[in-house]
Amino acid sequence: MIKVEDLHKSFGKLEVLKGITTTIKQGEVVAVIGPSGSGKSTFLRCLNLLEEPTRGRIWIGDEEITDKKTNIMKVRQHVGMVFQHFHLFPHMTVLENVTYAPIKVKGMTKAEAEAKGIELLKKVGLEQKANEYPSRLSGGQKQRVAIARALAMSPDVMLFDEPTSALDPEMVKEVLEVMKSLAHTGMTMAIVTHEMGFAREVADRVLFLDGGQLVEDAPPQEFFTSPKSKRAQEFLEKML
Ligand code: ADP
Ligand code: MG
Repeated sequence: MIKVEDLHKSFGKLEVLKGITTTIKQGEVVAVIGPSGSGKSTFLRCLNLLEEPTRGRIWIGDEEITDKKTNIMKVRQHVGMVFQHFHLFPHMTVLENVTYAPIKVKGMTKAEAEAKGIELLKKVGLEQKANEYPSRLSGGQKQRVAIARALAMSPDVMLFDEPTSALDPEMVKEVLEVMKSLAHTGMTMAIVTHEMGFAREVADRVLFLDGGQLVEDAPPQEFFTSPKSKRAQEFLEKML
C-alpha cells in the first residue's frame, strides 16, 4: 500500500530524514516511535506531501506521489490524517466538520454526506453530538470527531501523529479504542505514538526512528522484548 524508497528531507541545512526505506502493506498497522525530534512527524507528513521530500520516492498504491505529475490534492483524498491538536473547524458543527470535505471535494450530495457522517459518528460514539460545536466537546471527543472526519473521505490509508498526546489521561483510552476498532476493520494505518502498550497490542510492526534514520523495523514482540540497537534499548529504558 505504501512504499518509501530512500526518503530524505532537509529543512535548509538541517537534514531531518536521512534515507528511509520501508513498505507498509495493505491492512497493516505500523507504529512509528522514537525520541522527540527524530523525524517522526516529518516522515508522516511526507506520506501525504504535507512536506515535500528533498530526495527519494514514495508510492501510495500504484501511484508514485513523488512524481511531479501527481495531483497532490488527489493523493490527500486517499490518505487521511489525524493530528495531535485535532484541527477541527471551530465555526462548524460536528456533522458539518465531517461532511464538509465529502461535499466540497468529492461532490457528494448533502444528504449522502450526512447519512455517511452520522454513520461514522456512530462508529466513534458521538452521533448525539452531531449538532454541537467543537468548543463544547472534550479533547477526547474532538479527536474522535477528527477521526470520523478523516474517515468520511474513505481513505485507503490513515496517518495519526500523536493523536493522544494532547489529551488528559482519562480521555486517552476512548481514542485508542476507536483506533483499535479501526485497525480491526483492516484499515492501513501509520501511527506516531508514545503509547507503548497500544503499539505493542495493536501494531503489526514497529518502526523506530532516531536521528532521521530508520534504526529498527520489527514486530512489536521482538522490538519490545529484544531491541537490536543500543539506541532502541536506551529509548525503551526511558519509556518503560
Ligand atoms: P518528531 O516528530 O520525531 O519529534 P519532527 O519530524 O517534528 O520530529 O522534527 C524533526 C526535526 O526537524 C526537528 O529538529 C525539528 O526542529 C525539525 N523541523 C521539523 N519541521 C521543521 C520545519 N518546518 N522547519 C524547520 N525545521 C523543522
Ligand atoms: Mg512529532
